[in-house]
Amino acid sequence: MSLIIVGSLALDTIEAPAGSVSEVPGGSSSYCSIAASYFTHPNIVGVVGNDFPESVLALFRDHQINLEGLVIEEGKTFRWGGRYAENFDDRTTLFTELNVFETFNPTLPDTYKDATHVLLANIHPGLQHHVLDQLETESFVVLDTMNLWIDTALDELLTLIKRVDMLVINDEEANMLTQERNYGKAARKLQAMGPDWVVIKKGQHGALLFHGEDVFSVPGLVLDEVKDPTGAGDTFVGALIGYLDQSKEHSFDNMKLAVVFGSVLASFCVQDFSVDGITYLEEADLEERYDKFVIMSQF
Ligand code: AMP
Repeated sequence: MSLIIVGSLALDTIEAPAGSVSEVPGGSSSYCSIAASYFTHPNIVGVVGNDFPESVLALFRDHQINLEGLVIEEGKTFRWGGRYAENFDDRTTLFTELNVFETFNPTLPDTYKDATHVLLANIHPGLQHHVLDQLETESFVVLDTMNLWIDTALDELLTLIKRVDMLVINDEEANMLTQERNYGKAARKLQAMGPDWVVIKKGQHGALLFHGEDVFSVPGLVLDEVKDPTGAGDTFVGALIGYLDQSKEHSFDNMKLAVVFGSVLASFCVQDFSVDGITYLEEADLEERYDKFVIMSQF
């Protein structure tokens, strides 16, 4: 098994300046796995209720996403609602209904236990620990998290950070964990917590990759229209690990490319609601966007 992704599968309701949508596909795993599918065949572990639309499962299958680790339970799917302010920087969570997610206990099918790459997408750190406990081989583990767990499950999160190879985190979360506003100092403190690789996402301003003394900066693409930033971070980390899984190389130069492809997919994500921006991409679309990043970074 190559890449496994463990995270949430949700029906989201989003209010943004460009419009509103309700009960659309969401959750960290949906974004991560669709983004990763442009590079490899992801295998997901998760839970949905029996109200989860068959059309979305079909969309996952179309993207060659293996659903063997997906449990469909009697009950309602996890639901989340968010509202964006005009500047997109401020997001208010309108509601979080855990439903079947409340008792979710991720169990890896036997065929998943020798994964070479593991993405612990955003779920409770206790569940993320449980996933690592089930692995039978040395895997390259990437961890994504959110401010909620820094506030409510810090001890479990800190012991988890020790166990992973790469931590992908946004600038606010990096500041919460390290009390540092300076990116370099924050990254060094995060590296000292365990992971060899640290990525700090800066939203529309791009991302920074840290490894030892090396630093790489990928710019944010300047987009004329942003409709819905939900899941951009998940899309970024999904494409990043999908690219790593395809290339199977963990050199600094290859990690740079992984971060660029993460940014390429995230730039498509924000241009439409839900997963629509990343669902129907062609290779030529990715190449064209990749070239824009190259042009923006050259001088
Ligand atoms: P992001 O924009 O990267 O914060 O990701 C948004 C996605 O995270 C939405 O599709 C939500 O369904 C999902 N989400 C929101 N809260 C949680 C949570 N507590 N645990 C797991 N997933 C969540």
